[in-house]
Amino acid sequence: MRAFFLCIALAFSLSAADYKAGIGRIVITPEKPIYMSGYAGRNHPSEGAIHDLWAKALAIEDRKGGRVVIVSTDLIGLPRSISDIVAARVQKEYGLDRARLVLNSSHTHTGPLIRRNLEMLFELSPEDGEVVSEYSSKLTDNLVAVVGAALKDLSPADLAFGNGRATFAINRRENTAKGMKIGENPKGPNDPDVPVLKITAPGGKVRAVLFGYACHNTTLTGQFYKLSGDYSGFAQIAVEKANPGVTAMFLALCGADQNPHPRSKLELAEQHGEALGAEVNRVLGENLQRVRGPVRAAFQIVELTFAPNSRELYEARLKETNIYRVRHAKAMMRLYDERNPIRRYPYPVQAVQFGKDLTLVALGGEVVVDYALRIKREFGSKGIMVAGYSNDVMSYIPSLRVLKEGGYEADDSMIYYGLPGPYDEQVEDRVMTTVQQLMKRVGRRAVR
Ligand SMILES: [Zn+2]
Repeated sequence: MRAFFLCIALAFSLSAADYKAGIGRIVITPEKPIYMSGYAGRNHPSEGAIHDLWAKALAIEDRKGGRVVIVSTDLIGLPRSISDIVAARVQKEYGLDRARLVLNSSHTHTGPLIRRNLEMLFELSPEDGEVVSEYSSKLTDNLVAVVGAALKDLSPADLAFGNGRATFAINRRENTAKGMKIGENPKGPNDPDVPVLKITAPGGKVRAVLFGYACHNTTLTGQFYKLSGDYSGFAQIAVEKANPGVTAMFLALCGADQNPHPRSKLELAEQHGEALGAEVNRVLGENLQRVRGPVRAAFQIVELTFAPNSRELYEARLKETNIYRVRHAKAMMRLYDERNPIRRYPYPVQAVQFGKDLTLVALGGEVVVDYALRIKREFGSKGIMVAGYSNDVMSYIPSLRVLKEGGYEADDSMIYYGLPGPYDEQVEDRVMTTVQQLMKRVGRRAVR
């Protein structure tokens, strides 16, 4: 009799869960010394690792079978050449729609160079190039596998959401006599939000924590040759340490124009990570907002266009002394000569909605903070996470303000990404119009 009641109670508690959730995790630390991405000045491959790099996947399924899988990676940025293959294989192997797969990169600058992302940083020897190619193709398999592992792990779960705050990010666009430079601009806009999504088993045991922050993952600078996740790697470790058995996942938000402050020392990466982890742990202990309802998702490509350019523009640059500008000019001239100059870029925008309680906006590229602030103004700042570095990291995505001000995020960085030059002045409009359309499709209302 007692067993019967227990069964009833168990069945009730299982069916009472709002969702199912599954978690997958896989170490993606390169096995061989490999060129590290993010800083052009590095001149040799990595020298070991401080801690492991991870790809982690969180699958969530609503009561009617509507799914989403969110993947976090301790990587500089996944290019679409990898994301597209992963998404196509995930669709074929697991039946998951493109709109329901989010691939985020933490943007660590102490991770491996990835094929077709920021390749203009280096001219590698064939041997070093081979290591990068090998890593990138294994990474593709690993990402498909981690999504599969999460889907296989689906079991009853509840979701709850809250917001913390961190303050080690500083706006880095400093207006100097010589123009806009990467420096420190304490008066510039930033976004201190630390969104936290808690996934618990029935009975309350925490299984996974998804959190984010809008800050470049660049505490560690170009003289570091040991692989690590930088502050977000340390933050995930801090959350997992405080909550044994939990998988902690970091989403890079719209922090393209934000740097950790202070930076350049390993202890500081650890310190920022521990501060962020402690804030996440504090939020986990709070009375969070329960998240319920169907999972809706939408994904759309919008074409971004570049400011006008010509073969002559690049030809004139061949006389310059900056090797990166010359390398870039040659590549652009080659495209002109092949009658294939780059005129536009297919930019991915994604929105995932959980009932009426939570929205995840996932934007491609290195998105400046203006976008997150604008989206929260237009759609309300409650129950929302606005991620950048999602699905494809092809360039910086400046707002119109940043584009007009110029500097690294507006223009100079385009060289390293192998794109022709700055976007035109439509960029913010095109991104935001697409965000607004997707919000409508998934049912997140604008605030009046
Ligand atoms: Zn960056």
